[in-house]
Amino acid sequence: MGRIQLLSEEVASQVAAGEVVERPASVVKELVENSLDAGARRIEVLIRRGGISQIKVVDDGSGMDRDDALLCLERHATSKIRTGNDLASIATLGFRGEALPSIASVSRFRLSTRPHGEEEGTEILVSGGKIDAVRAGGDAPGTQIEVRSLFYNLPARRKFLRTENTEASHVEHHLHLQAIGHPGVAFIFVKDDRTALQLPVAARLADRIRDLSGTELVEQLVEIEPIEQAGLRVSGFIGKPGVSRSTRAQQIVFVNGRAIENPTVNYGLREGYHTALMKGQHPVTFLFLEMDPAVVDVNVHPAKREVRFRDPSLVREVLASVIRKTLEATRQSWSRQFAAPAPSGPTPPQRLPVFPVSPIPETPERSPFRPSDARMGASPAELSPFQPVEPTAPTPDSRDAHQLPLPPAAAIPDPSAEKASSVPAENGTTDFLASSGNPEASDFRILGVLGKLYVLMENANGLVLVDQHAAHERILFEQLRNRMETRGVASQRLLMPLTLPVAPRDSDWLDRNLDTLQRMGIGIEQFGPSTWKIDALPSFIKTGDPLQLVRQLIDDLRSATAQTSKLRLGEDVIAKTVCRHAVKANDVLRREELMQLIRDLLACELPYCCPHGRPTMIQMSYGELEKKFGRKV
Ligand code: ADP
Ligand code: MG
Repeated sequence: MGRIQLLSEEVASQVAAGEVVERPASVVKELVENSLDAGARRIEVLIRRGGISQIKVVDDGSGMDRDDALLCLERHATSKIRTGNDLASIATLGFRGEALPSIASVSRFRLSTRPHGEEEGTEILVSGGKIDAVRAGGDAPGTQIEVRSLFYNLPARRKFLRTENTEASHVEHHLHLQAIGHPGVAFIFVKDDRTALQLPVAARLADRIRDLSGTELVEQLVEIEPIEQAGLRVSGFIGKPGVSRSTRAQQIVFVNGRAIENPTVNYGLREGYHTALMKGQHPVTFLFLEMDPAVVDVNVHPAKREVRFRDPSLVREVLASVIRKTLEATRQSWSRQFAAPAPSGPTPPQRLPVFPVSPIPETPERSPFRPSDARMGASPAELSPFQPVEPTAPTPDSRDAHQLPLPPAAAIPDPSAEKASSVPAENGTTDFLASSGNPEASDFRILGVLGKLYVLMENANGLVLVDQHAAHERILFEQLRNRMETRGVASQRLLMPLTLPVAPRDSDWLDRNLDTLQRMGIGIEQFGPSTWKIDALPSFIKTGDPLQLVRQLIDDLRSATAQTSKLRLGEDVIAKTVCRHAVKANDVLRREELMQLIRDLLACELPYCCPHGRPTMIQMSYGELEKKFGRKV
């Protein structure tokens, strides 16, 4: 007798369920997707004990008549595709026709559904895949699905579940994704009888993000100017430079309305952020990619979490360039904040007087700050932990400032605030950079230096802290990069040329990229079929192992796309070396040196983070200060 047998329908469903139903969150995901596909405007999700004991999803979507209600529990029953060709143009979230039968085969399942306009609905009870009852149902129009005792008939599966809290947080994560993807749908989430989430219909994505994650996060985001390039539409929000997370949990990307994970997308984002992202950190994104369904295959993962692009490098390049442009555009709005410490925001200085800071005497005997040789002599005030910027004899005013006297009851007229009040803070045309030639026009004020590292400044919104070391790194980085792009980098001959053995395909590659390497200040030429000679290195590089450095360069460049490669090559080398040239934390800078540093920083393309993605400045707004001091709740 043959050993092969057909599996019973029941076992086959349980096997299929293994792919689709991994945990309570996957049940919620499938049910909510069905509700969205059914055109629901309001979806309520209820779980008990992490969804292990109960999950209930209630929607006000189309509902089903009795025939459909019975059919939807069959395997491979779907209303969303009919022929194989339809797979190439999927516009719904579901299409596999597997979720409901799979879920019903591993739980105690109840479906209650009623089309709009029908007087009566249908209720079906199923346990472990077997229909127990079909009867008339009296629930509201729409569909309700209740899933109890998940995996009650598969103890082995049940053992893989984590704690109730962990399972609940996975459910919540999925709901967040769905809620972001569909701001026009109201979501309610009830966890163990407590309402955990109540999201009204949102007119705009920004409103939904705020309702979900708070104003603070929204303030850290910047909206992408929606673009369409080569049939690829990109829109949404991304984190400003320096905003990052240690996990990918907030790197949210939708492709045609579906939240997905995809390495190509990850690369594109990383490439776009490049130096604006700390090593090992992940960007915060709420990105929406729209494209012809024919150029993206959504049928590559049973839980439909992954997609495959027909032209991955196009997706990657478009993403990288959109991100880069968006980040660079944020510079404008930052600069504006430094142009006018106007009484903007919730607290006008009349209520919270701007603290008077005395003018800092100039020290003309010292040379003005030049970023490239920034090591300066120590100031007499160096020993104080809070170091005022006046190295010379303090005026009575400035001594007051050090002792932090209470501000007088009446607001002190602040000359810069007065001047600024003629320039509305929201005025889009006021750009700090436009007036950067004139130091008096830059209306940020330096208050002092904290711990010989952090420059304290006042601007329109309140307090700004600048990490002078990180700031200088950013400035040097961009200067060197510019030099590289325009003139090429000065190189220094090696006393002894080095030989670099390379594999034939690397040799080919070197041949094609000689020009870039030479611009970088690397003297390199072919020596033999698989040997190259290096006789010069960029003069600003100090390395004990030039061969290693060149190899690293080659690897880095090879992994970059054609479009970004040249830039990438230079940036990485520069980022690694500027640290050694930058102002050290303890270097004491004088007022005009600091002013120059800040001005140079603000003139950078990406002023808010150093080349390693660490922030260069932190804003503490009046609002935040008021909260901290309990003036505002
Ligand atoms: P798929 O979503 O891949 O089509 P499912 O097993 O998830 O497969 O659902 C089967 C069918 O049941 C769907 O195609 C749809 O017609 C119907 N259905 C499921 N859930 C709902 C719902 N909440 N409202 C209306 N129809 C639904
Ligand atoms: Mg489905």
